[in-house]
Amino acid sequence: MQTISVKCKLQVPVEFRSEIDRTLQGFADACNQIYEVAKREKCWNTTKLHHLVYKPIKQATGIKANHVCQAIRRVIGNAKAVKQVHKFRPTSINLDARTFEYFEEPQSVGVTLMCSRKQFKLLIGNYQLALLKGQTPTAATLNKTKRGDYYINICVDLPTDPTGKTPKVIGVDLGRRDIATTSNGKSWSGGKIQATRDRYSKVRANVQRKRTRSSRKLLRRLSGREQRFQKWLNHNISKQLVQEAKQSSSALAFEDLTNIRESLNQKPRSKTERRRTNNWAFYQLRMFVEYKGNIAGVPVVLVPPAYTSQTCSRCHHVHPVKGKSYRSGKSFKCGHCGFEYDADVNAALNIAALGLSVSQPEVPGIACLLEGCDYLFPTGGENWDKDLPLKRKRRVG
Ligand SMILES: [Zn+2]
Repeated sequence: MQTISVKCKLQVPVEFRSEIDRTLQGFADACNQIYEVAKREKCWNTTKLHHLVYKPIKQATGIKANHVCQAIRRVIGNAKAVKQVHKFRPTSINLDARTFEYFEEPQSVGVTLMCSRKQFKLLIGNYQLALLKGQTPTAATLNKTKRGDYYINICVDLPTDPTGKTPKVIGVDLGRRDIATTSNGKSWSGGKIQATRDRYSKVRANVQRKRTRSSRKLLRRLSGREQRFQKWLNHNISKQLVQEAKQSSSALAFEDLTNIRESLNQKPRSKTERRRTNNWAFYQLRMFVEYKGNIAGVPVVLVPPAYTSQTCSRCHHVHPVKGKSYRSGKSFKCGHCGFEYDADVNAALNIAALGLSVSQPEVPGIACLLEGCDYLFPTGGENWDKDLPLKRKRRVG
């Protein structure tokens, strides 16, 4: 089981705001007073502290019994988690099964406040709905933002698959010719989508040249539209990737692109290609895959990106001449073993192989044939041609 918290916006009628605020204030006061007692008495045990503070705190603050219990837990939890506890502020309150209830029909929560229990509608989307479906959560935190909005973070337990070690890894190559290509040969191109993005960027360039007030307005609208389009797309791709991995009980492997911006830009690249690589969109796609994978129990691993597109996924050779590559455009043709393949799928196969060594470090690997390189390519994946003579050695460390 994995516990995640689902953030939901609350619809709070104006007349109930002060009641919530009063409850938050009472809870913060209780926490501050309890903390003083705990510090004075050097008591950091929940039960002992309860005996010390329950009655006086309840009388002093007027909050409900279960709020006092939660305040004690909050104080002890904070004291254990951070070195220096600062003042508790009236911005959040912990709720338990006695002070909180979730209703599916209509989507709402019941919350015990200072005087009584109130029911609030949830303003949520499909993502939250799916996570909350069929759940009977017993814990939540009610928060007030700086802007004065109210949110409730509902804790739900989601079953994760008994992942352990996944023997299969699907490699995902991002953003060369296509948006994403998997080692199974699936790809999300490309043509129409990139055309849309190119069109946006062309319009943007035109607008930027003009620099009038109305063009600035248009620019903002454009970037918003482009972003929404990309977000929708990334949700779709990530969903399909995670689904495919779950069905075949595989892990997903991506290149770790954290520092790739610099290294990629050192090589001469066309302006268009640079824009495509330097894009937050790939980062977003990976984030989506990670959180969806988390929920579905699909492990996601990151691998070093060096040479993934230039290495032959069959014999692990890289072109011996610096600056040259077996890859040319869409196709990959190995000069060592003659392996010919779609260049993006070849890269994805390398990513999958590296992913296997990350998720299963005990698998015997193959040393990289490049001199001075520490890479160890794993064997044993379904994508590997086992008949090929390979330089094998056991992984060390
Ligand atoms: Zn080869």
